Amino acid sequence: MNILAIETSCDETAAAVIGDEAKILSNVVVSQIDIFAAYGGVIPEVAARSHLEAILPVIHQALDDAGLAKDDIDCIAVTYAPGLLGSLLIGTLTARTLAILWHKPLYAVHHLKSHIYSNWLHDDINQDHTTLPNFPLMALVISGGHTQIIYMPEHNKFEIIGTTRDDAVGECFDKIAKILGLPYPGGPSIAKVAEHGNSNKYKFPHPKVDGLDFSFSGLKTAVLRAVQADCNLPITTPSYELAKHLAGQQRADFAASFQATACDILLEKLQIALEGHPEARATVFAGGVSANQVLRQKALVGPKNSLRSDFWHPHADLQVFFPEPRFSGDNAAMVGAAAYYEIIAGSQAVDPYKLNILPHTPIK
Ligand code: AMP
Ligand code: MG
Repeated sequence: MNILAIETSCDETAAAVIGDEAKILSNVVVSQIDIFAAYGGVIPEVAARSHLEAILPVIHQALDDAGLAKDDIDCIAVTYAPGLLGSLLIGTLTARTLAILWHKPLYAVHHLKSHIYSNWLHDDINQDHTTLPNFPLMALVISGGHTQIIYMPEHNKFEIIGTTRDDAVGECFDKIAKILGLPYPGGPSIAKVAEHGNSNKYKFPHPKVDGLDFSFSGLKTAVLRAVQADCNLPITTPSYELAKHLAGQQRADFAASFQATACDILLEKLQIALEGHPEARATVFAGGVSANQVLRQKALVGPKNSLRSDFWHPHADLQVFFPEPRFSGDNAAMVGAAAYYEIIAGSQAVDPYKLNILPHTPIK
């Protein structure tokens, strides 16, 4: 089976061809980061226009890279939810049109499901299948728009057991990067500067939210207040005024201390979720923030990525997966992987004349 997958939910225009067992045949991503770095964030209308310019060349490239023509494609998969309205429209309208013109079945894939299934992608069909996640599993979806703990009893079944009550963790990285005067997107900028920082320099409180829910807006304010205090500025100083008062080492220490706190908050809740589900056999991380190396180091050790026994005890037999960094951000390969596991489970194709986008709908 060859799946042509298309992803345009935010500011990456992406197409990929995925074969049997989620094997990657090609993967093309054109990012709009350079455009939005100048603005410090995504402008939805500009994102939609950029998708429109890039989408057809990106699809051609994905087919060329896979060495396939349209007749070799068995079906088309596209992100229909959630995301930016205009961005989702460009991808779905393109996929619907191709499905109609090429007479191919069309599958509509939820974006968070795609992020989770980035952990099933591989380059080699003869891989050892013991290296795939076992069910039941716990997924930690951490991205620019979402922070959720999702329990999966089996393929294609999702129970949201924890979610953020305010900001997503990636959004928090992006906003704190702005306070520190670091470029968009904030996650990679903070991670880079934090390499030279002391993560114990500043102590930030962990939010007291019952159960498995998260809250990141308090951490954002705590960093803001700490920066103001450290620079001897009144709390009325606007956040955009702060960066120029920070010295290089001070900025690095704030970045490192914030990053460590954010990672600890994520892992603490994940631990509580696993305590409530001792039957879980795997944990998968998913979404842009899963590229964070400190998060990875707090969970795994050594070249073989063994579990850090101090952290995962008593789940010593748990499998832990992080997507390859190239698949942690938005891409279409993960859309193809999610579609593949839907199709082999008997999921129905959608009507290309009727597929709607759903910018806010939760995973199901
Ligand atoms: P996504 O929404 O899945 O496309 O992921 C984008 C989000 O991931 C943005 O908020 C980025 O700042 C964040 N991000 C990307 N790389 C990293 C990183 N290395 N550490 C922390 N956050 C990151
Ligand atoms: Mg995403």
